[in-house]
Amino acid sequence: TKNLVEVQSLKKYFKIKSDVTVKSVDDISFYIRKGETFGLVGESGSGKSTLGKTLVGIQAASDGDIIYNGQNIKQLNKEMKRNVNKEMQIIFQDPHASLNPRMRVGDIIAEGIDAYKLFSGKDRTNRIYELLERVGLSPQHAKRYPHEFSGGQRQRIGIARALAVEPKFIVADEPISALDVSIQAQVINLLEDLKVSEDLTYLFIAHDLGMVKHISDRIGVMYLGKMMELSNSDDMFTNPLHPYTQALLSAIPKTNPRDAKRERIVLAGDPPSPTNPPSGCRFRTRCPHAMEVCALQEPQWKEVEKEHWTACHLY
Ligand code: SF4
Ligand code: MG
Repeated sequence: TKNLVEVQSLKKYFKIKSDVTVKSVDDISFYIRKGETFGLVGESGSGKSTLGKTLVGIQAASDGDIIYNGQNIKQLNKEMKRNVNKEMQIIFQDPHASLNPRMRVGDIIAEGIDAYKLFSGKDRTNRIYELLERVGLSPQHAKRYPHEFSGGQRQRIGIARALAVEPKFIVADEPISALDVSIQAQVINLLEDLKVSEDLTYLFIAHDLGMVKHISDRIGVMYLGKMMELSNSDDMFTNPLHPYTQALLSAIPKTNPRDAKRERIVLAGDPPSPTNPPSGCRFRTRCPHAMEVCALQEPQWKEVEKEHWTACHLY
């Protein structure tokens, strides 16, 4: 299968004071296949949103390469880069903060249409109506303002805005975390429908593994700016290799008898500050298997089993 996005040694650092740098994304390499849903999981502060935003070009990488559809984004001219940016869209976590309260819904949805001058006049209006219907809203909603809508409806507006420019790759950054549990499934179903009808590829970001289990083809687990493990969804749940993944899985309520042998692993302490991560393996201060070497050497990112990568000295 062809890869739509390839990430090579990607870094995104933020200098927050003259002597303090946060390594939000620190040397990550992986790929996302065309047509798959790639679930990206980690606690807050693990760098998953930063990775998503860097991939779609909202922020520039500090180092490393992003290859989109075979083209290294760094090497593209302005116009080609603009076109790639159009094909990569993002749906934000908070449907309240991400919609301008002073803009009408129709104009919000048309932000990309206007920026890329895709439609004007009557065609633009028709396109807005079509998008509203596509996400389960109605044309008469175009004239209203965001505050007139529920959280779930606002997220649909955010989805329509992302779809407006006919993207191929969408980063969904915790798209249901801020929504009532009762409507989360509706938004997930909409995203799954759209994936098929619009031929999309997703990077789906979530803070826990349970949320991405059923929708992801493959899953990556991040911790303090690093990818800890990556495999297909089934392997991640039946054969987790990294002690951090094992701990995350043990925290999910058991519904499958096959999982019954899992013991709850309680991690010691809180995640360390991303401004001052532990030496060697960043997980070592909380790892039940930590050894001497873990403080001294950073574990390499290795394909331990076929299509199953992890970074841990146990392997
Ligand atoms: Fe634990 Fe060491 Fe593996 Fe890190 S490298 S997860 S500290 S065993
Ligand atoms: Mg986030």
